[in-house]
Amino acid sequence: MPVIEKVSWDYAGAEDIAYRFPNLSLKYGSQVIVKENQWAVFFRDGKAYDVFGPGRHTITSNNIPLLTAALRALRIIGDIFDCEVVFVSNSQFRANFGGTAYSAPSGDIKYQAELGFFGYMLYKVEDPKLFVVEFFGNRGASSSRDVENYIRGFINERIINEFGNHDIFTVVKNVDATTDKVTLKISDEAARVGLKVIDCVFEGVKIPEEARRFASGMGAQAMMMQYMKETATELKGSEGGGAAAAGLGAGMGLTMPYMMAQQMQQAQAGQPQQLIICQSCGAKNPVGTKFCGNCGASLAPQAKVVCPKCKAENPAGTKFCGNCGTPLTQPAASEITCPKCNAKNPVGTKFCGNCGEKLG
Ligand SMILES: [Zn+2]
Ligand SMILES: [Zn+2]
Ligand SMILES: [Zn+2]
Repeated sequence: MPVIEKVSWDYAGAEDIAYRFPNLSLKYGSQVIVKENQWAVFFRDGKAYDVFGPGRHTITSNNIPLLTAALRALRIIGDIFDCEVVFVSNSQFRANFGGTAYSAPSGDIKYQAELGFFGYMLYKVEDPKLFVVEFFGNRGASSSRDVENYIRGFINERIINEFGNHDIFTVVKNVDATTDKVTLKISDEAARVGLKVIDCVFEGVKIPEEARRFASGMGAQAMMMQYMKETATELKGSEGGGAAAAGLGAGMGLTMPYMMAQQMQQAQAGQPQQLIICQSCGAKNPVGTKFCGNCGASLAPQAKVVCPKCKAENPAGTKFCGNCGTPLTQPAASEITCPKCNAKNPVGTKFCGNCGEKLG
């Protein structure tokens, strides 16, 4: 390996947080040129040694005392030695995050809300030595891209964990407090890997309407009652509502999602509840449960939604791309058009709300 006389990170792009020169053969007398907003960290065998700040440094045993001592301990004596130099940027970076998290199971039916979230974190390296050990030593990162992926991953993981600790009642009531807590945890975690969080912004936490309804009442029963009330009001308010309102009992059944109608019928008839077996853990869940009360697995058949922006595959039902945070519109139809009168009806409707035609 030729001995390197001069090392510098000349082509740092705006997105580059670090650059690793592996397997350098250096000597006392080689120059290390560190630009403004950079550090150079001497790195060997997974350990970080001396750090140079901005400037033009000629390597001597005096200005890299830690590495020199380590080399002596390894009986590497003489002017030439092998090591790596990792250049680290001191600029501010931004990491976008986004994904889906579930609240803790709550209520008799162990309801778990699917929460969408997205936002960004502004951060910079605070402790270049710790950063280099964590990323280039412990995690085997070799590029800025690896670092960014790790950061996005840990943000998402923290958020998923934190939301998973609270039932939907807490989340709905305290969205800000919950996201603040997540931000604090992210800051802690970041400090442990040598990063400083400058700002962590939740641009959106999406709580589905269904979850709000659940949280505002006392569970499934309240959800059903609320839904009936709203449906009746809608029918009264709509044109031709007279006829529908007259047949109120039937009218409610029309627009109520199938699951609820079915649950209600069963409740009324006092029949045993039908159960869905979780494909993941085998637990039995009441019909209409979207996520397994035991293990949290989705009870809907698995399908993928491709992100229109970055083409990442996300589980069906995901509201935001886990990779880039783009809102994902569901390709599945949200309405059924009546074949007879062309009125639009919500999915799950059995009879057209306008003309009474059987749908599906
Ligand atoms: Zn399960
Ligand atoms: Zn995407
Ligand atoms: Zn119709």
